[in-house]
Amino acid sequence: MNIQSSFFFDFFYDNFKLHKRTTMNIQNYIGGALVNPSSNLFLDNFNPAIGKVYSYIPNSEKEDIQNAYKAAKNAFSAWSKTSKEGRFKVMMRIAELIEERHDELALAESIDNGKPVKLAQQVDIPRAASNIRFFATAILHFASESHDMDGVAINYTLRKPIGVVGCISPWNLPLYLFTWKIAPALAAGNTVIAKPSEITPMTAYLFSKICIEAGLPAGVLNIVHGLGVKVGAAITEHPGIKAISFTGGTETGKAIAKVAAPMFKKLSLELGGKNPNVIFADCDFDNALRTSVMSSFANQGQICLCGSRIFVERPIYEKFKTAFVEKVSKLKVGDPNDSNSNLGALVSKQHLEKVLGYINLAKEEGGTILTGGNQIHLEGKLANGNYLAPTVIEGLSFDCRTNQEEIFGPVVTIMPFDTEEEVLSYANSTQYGLAATVWTQDVTKANRMAANLESGIVWVNCWLVRDLRTPFGGVKNSGVGREGGFNALNFFTEQTNVCVKL
Ligand code: NAD
Repeated sequence: MNIQSSFFFDFFYDNFKLHKRTTMNIQNYIGGALVNPSSNLFLDNFNPAIGKVYSYIPNSEKEDIQNAYKAAKNAFSAWSKTSKEGRFKVMMRIAELIEERHDELALAESIDNGKPVKLAQQVDIPRAASNIRFFATAILHFASESHDMDGVAINYTLRKPIGVVGCISPWNLPLYLFTWKIAPALAAGNTVIAKPSEITPMTAYLFSKICIEAGLPAGVLNIVHGLGVKVGAAITEHPGIKAISFTGGTETGKAIAKVAAPMFKKLSLELGGKNPNVIFADCDFDNALRTSVMSSFANQGQICLCGSRIFVERPIYEKFKTAFVEKVSKLKVGDPNDSNSNLGALVSKQHLEKVLGYINLAKEEGGTILTGGNQIHLEGKLANGNYLAPTVIEGLSFDCRTNQEEIFGPVVTIMPFDTEEEVLSYANSTQYGLAATVWTQDVTKANRMAANLESGIVWVNCWLVRDLRTPFGGVKNSGVGREGGFNALNFFTEQTNVCVKL
């Protein structure tokens, strides 16, 4: 594709390079059309790399959710009866179009979120296409059970789409996590009302254009932009929306559960984390070191799976710490559009302030900053961007607030341990249980650790290696339910057992 000829590429490129103020309005996607919010009011959308408004987001209301609901309800009968092959075909076309627009979408994601464009090119956009393709094909292989009662009767299980479902997603991996939810919902025959984060709405908007071009029938997917407390809450409260798949913070998850539980909605909640990265003395040192830099600071540390608490076995503690700090201090924080930047901008001023607040708290709690700890002021057009040096903190107790609360930025703590029991008690001490990483060459120890860690996901000698068929989700306050593979298709279907007397 010649990206130079694309309208969107020109728009983003001009905007990014020249930071021209434009009046581009994002629109909702309801009933197959791009429409303004009923209020006709818009919110500012910032480019975090330059700290300037570059587009406007629909400030939608309950009424827009009601319009989306009507469209989704009307579309449900035909879409749920569309053959699996038919759903597969249109979804595969969507995946193809994502790939055709790869460069444009990656640039849009980088501008909207502040992440290095290189990361969006290598991870966010390819994985968005994979999510759609994976569930488009998975539905062709989705089967239900039968139970034979020795000649008396036979039971079989029908798996039916639920109806209109809600998908609410966060800002850290915008298109990636958006597609991770809507793809299984659509493949299973539901119609969807989706709400992307108001902080990063752009790629969901571009995605709605892709859906129109791919020929997704009107009303099958509806994307309503706006504030969580208005639009997200309106989805949660709507009596006709029978299932909610949510990814975001634990406090928001609690608020959603409080409203949805008395209405007996199906709920899938993927929430926060405070993930341990456990490094034993017998690890492959270089691999553990290299990967820990990535697992700490990829996407400016704004991945729910990042390891934010590094525990190192005492015999290698000093060696690991020195090498880690040296590598981290060489990471380049800079223009997200520069392919040499390792870290771009944090997603918003408010989030930068929050992360800086935690660095101050760490100091108050007795922590020593080994590297970073400061905001970075870049020059020229980037002078107002939200940049923070990757930060490593030592000397904190495992149970202080810095080590218990989710920071969700480029900040990690590092501390030594002496025994397996000790590190397990540190690792399991938080309210969270999303992901953990273990580094050791001893396979028995690795398996023992994996079994005893309170975590939905454990990586051994690797990080962020993802097979889309595997269960994805957290324990404790990191969530309820599992996404991934047939788990997601199970979530987005209702079962009916049919018992036939023979
Ligand atoms: P958030 O909870 O603030 O927002 C997530 C989404 O919920 C947004 O679309 C927001 O508009 C909406 N929302 C806000 N208030 C709402 C309400 N009252 N009712 C309904 N919807 C509402 O989270 P965030 O700041 O966008 O994302 C960061 C958080 O997400 C972190 O805690 C991170 O760990 C978590 N996260 C978890 C996973 C996972 O898979 N477990 C993945 C990515 C991010």
